[in-house]
Amino acid sequence: MDKSIFAKTKYFIIDMDGTFYLSGNIIEGSKDFISKLRETGRDFYFFTNNSSNNVEVCREKLAKMGFPVDEDKVIVSSHVAGSYLNKNYPGKRVYLLGNERLTGDMIRYGINLVDDDPDIVLLGFDTTLTYEKIRKAANYLAAGVTYIATHPDVNCPMADGFMPDTGSMIEMFAASTGRRPLVLGKPMKATVDYITGLLGCDKSELAFVGDRLATDIAIGMNHGIPCALVYSGVTTREMYAESEIRASVDVDNLKALAEYL
Ligand SMILES: [Mg+2]
Repeated sequence: MDKSIFAKTKYFIIDMDGTFYLSGNIIEGSKDFISKLRETGRDFYFFTNNSSNNVEVCREKLAKMGFPVDEDKVIVSSHVAGSYLNKNYPGKRVYLLGNERLTGDMIRYGINLVDDDPDIVLLGFDTTLTYEKIRKAANYLAAGVTYIATHPDVNCPMADGFMPDTGSMIEMFAASTGRRPLVLGKPMKATVDYITGLLGCDKSELAFVGDRLATDIAIGMNHGIPCALVYSGVTTREMYAESEIRASVDVDNLKALAEYL
């Protein structure tokens, strides 16, 4: 067991679905991993790309499964987006594709949400997307407004299958308008910058853990941060063997990862 991989890690940034829990149940050994983190003087934060959820929804889910956490323990890609907009486009007019929860988050960040004449289209995981919203956004994009998306995931796993996610909408708008967004969330640098700013730490003190190669693992690989792939979610050993995305370590689940601490 190579314990040097996470020797510098102070904060584990843990994915939720398929990593910490699955289908409404905490994966066996996940809590032991958290205990081991604490025993070894480390801390953790959950990070989810799913911008259709907010902190409250995530906390409720975790509490229902018997793992209540404080508000600050959950970070959503919408936080990266709100902070990015405030830093780079303060006061700009934003047309948001997002549900009530994402809208609430943007209002909390003081984003100037508008229906008409925007400077920016922000594409989130809009579970209330309508043809009218698609039509308006496509016309704004065709007119050349700044275009940002909260995260790149193509599908979102559901208990009874899956749901097309923001990445699929990115492809739809690309087909319609030829435009592609600046993408935030995992695996993008804006997310690393947001987290290091939030925690007041260097990226060398972080490690990412997750079940999805293109987001949870690519963020580590792309930015020189240790990352652990767990096989408790969407990625199988066969898929990993065929991928060019490389984790620092690949393990069955969080329980197995505890051995590396
Ligand atoms: Mg996941």
